[in-house]
Parts: sequence; C-alpha cells; structure tokens
Amino acid sequence: MTDQPSLPHQPDCLFCKIVSGDVPATIVRETDTTVAFRDINPQAPTHILVIPRAHYPDAAALSAAEPAVAADVLREAGEIAAEEGIAETGYRVVFNTGSGAGQTVFHAHAHVLGGRGLQWPPG
Ligand code: C5P
Repeated sequence: MTDQPSLPHQPDCLFCKIVSGDVPATIVRETDTTVAFRDINPQAPTHILVIPRAHYPDAAALSAAEPAVAADVLREAGEIAAEEGIAETGYRVVFNTGSGAGQTVFHAHAHVLGGRGLQWPPG
C-alpha cells in the first residue's frame, strides 16, 4: 500500500466538489495543482475562476501554506487571459477575501475578468 499524501479537502465545500467532479462546471484549463472554470454568473464577457485543487479558505491562507501553488494560480490567470484574447486589451485578477469584500465561497479563487471596460475603483 502506498501512502499518497492527500490534499486538504472539505467535503461540504462547493469548489472542492467541482475539483472532484461531483458538481459540474465548464472547465477551461487544469493543471496538477489548479482547476479553472467559467463563472456560473459572469460579470464580464470573460469571467473565469482559477482555484487550487487543495482547500484553503482564501488567497492569504493559500499563499501562506503553499506559495508555489499560489504562483500557479497567478500563472494560470495569465495563460487564460492570453487564451481568451483579453491580455492585450487589459483584464483584472481579483481575490475577494472575506465576506466584507464580497467573498461567498470560502475556497481560494482568482476571478479573471475581461472583455469589457473595467471601472476603477471597483464597487
Ligand atoms: O468571490 P466570491 O466568493 O463571491 O466568488 C464566488 C464565485 O463563484 C461567484 O462569482 C459565483 O458566481 C461563482 N460560482 C460558480 N459556480 C458555482 C457557484 C458559484 O461559478 N457553482
């Protein structure tokens, strides 16, 4: 019997269920450490979420525990922007962190948004 290290996982976490395939999602890219899928309620013509396969409640917890995986998430965001054709016009990568900032799913995720003009400051 081999001892496979298991990833941090929360059985009742929606994004863990997307990683495991128990909840459907329109997946656009996958790596050993990340999954990217189209947001179910898009806020821009391109709106994709990049998540670590492992469960961490937010970006700060992810980067503290697994800085290399946090870098993977950022690199995937850039690759997706290039693939979606939004890199040249400009795009935004957002980590809502905490309910006061609009975080509703407590599994770290980067929003990749583009394809329209984006206002600053955000609401
Ligand atoms: O930053 P926040 O936690 O609010 O983002 C969660 C995102 O997850 C939302 O944009 C929501 O539309 C998206 N979502 C999804 N698929 C689900 C449930 C939520 O894309 N099944």
